[in-house]
Amino acid sequence: MNNILDGIEEILLLGPGPSCVRKEVYDALSRKTLGHLDPYFMTIMDGIKDMLKRVMNTGNALTVPMSGTGSAGMEACFVNLVEPGDRVLVLINGVFGMRMSDVAARLGAEVDTLEFTWGTPVVPEAVEKKIREKAYRIVAVVHAETSTGVMNPVAEIGKMLKGSDMLYLVDTVTSLGGIDVRMDDWGIDALYSGTQKCLSCPPGLAPLSFSERATAKLNGRKTKVPNWYLDLSLISNYWGAKRVYHHTAPVNMLYGLYQALLLLLEEGPEKAFQRHRKNHLALVSGLKGLGMEMLVEEPYRLPMLNTVLIPAGVDDLSIRKALRSEFKIEIGGGLGPLAGKIWRIGLMGHSSTEESVTRLLAALKKLLQTN
Ligand code: PLP
Repeated sequence: MNNILDGIEEILLLGPGPSCVRKEVYDALSRKTLGHLDPYFMTIMDGIKDMLKRVMNTGNALTVPMSGTGSAGMEACFVNLVEPGDRVLVLINGVFGMRMSDVAARLGAEVDTLEFTWGTPVVPEAVEKKIREKAYRIVAVVHAETSTGVMNPVAEIGKMLKGSDMLYLVDTVTSLGGIDVRMDDWGIDALYSGTQKCLSCPPGLAPLSFSERATAKLNGRKTKVPNWYLDLSLISNYWGAKRVYHHTAPVNMLYGLYQALLLLLEEGPEKAFQRHRKNHLALVSGLKGLGMEMLVEEPYRLPMLNTVLIPAGVDDLSIRKALRSEFKIEIGGGLGPLAGKIWRIGLMGHSSTEESVTRLLAALKKLLQTN
């Protein structure tokens, strides 16, 4: 029988995720499957937890990879923390902030939003004013807004919330592994991420961590967590000392995450951040050389997600199609109000190399000349 999988080509993944995966991680994925309650697998689980804590800069006991993609991490944070009627403030400057507010509203939260122009950061002073007017149970923000390429001032907002009863919930799907994330220092109570961006593991897991305060809110709920699969009070019994079966863990995906975290820690997070920054600067200067402008102003540009304005008269789709078919490179288009206006160029994890930048710039140069 013809196997369609044989037609998979090697594509340089320079979109908003997934990013390129290293051979070591592919090798890890294909290791022998163990039982999800096997004693050796337990040691691998402990290794993953320890490495996640190091990468997130947290001492939180409740630090686990959730089964599912980044959105499962988002759902898990809200579904475990929100009870109907809880006041939630979501800071929005892109698609993923909007998704957070949708998720919280579906759980019966009283959601307020503070919106900022797409392509610009959340303004801490506006947040300060809002939280002085009203007390919230949860304040939520996206660290690296993948839809716009903006880095939000997560540390500053955390400072404002310190000492209050409000829980601080942060999306680090795109930031973790590419820029500094300091969960404990920044006062973050609930944090989630995804494997397919700067961790350079295929999509499928959502690292998550809850502070003691967040865990206390979970344990003190008046109502049951309204989602069995994502209920952290059950999942923590599998990932904790009791090892109670909840659902069959995606064993091989977890091998992949183990290996990806090991590679990141072997390189050293600081070095990885510098590499992301260096390649980002090279890309920006190359794009400028081609006469293109970035959407986001410094110092709010994300090094792993570069948003560049599509030059007037250039057709978005035909360039992206040609990049894929002729040059075997994937980049992303704009979302929502930015559709057709920007390209989103990811230099995430293993995709963030000098060679990626050179290959993309050369291909874009050729295509823009003939467009
Ligand atoms: N949050 C951010 C900032 C993202 O960039 C994404 C995905 O791109 C998500 C959440 C959702 O993750 P996933 O698509 O893996 O479910």
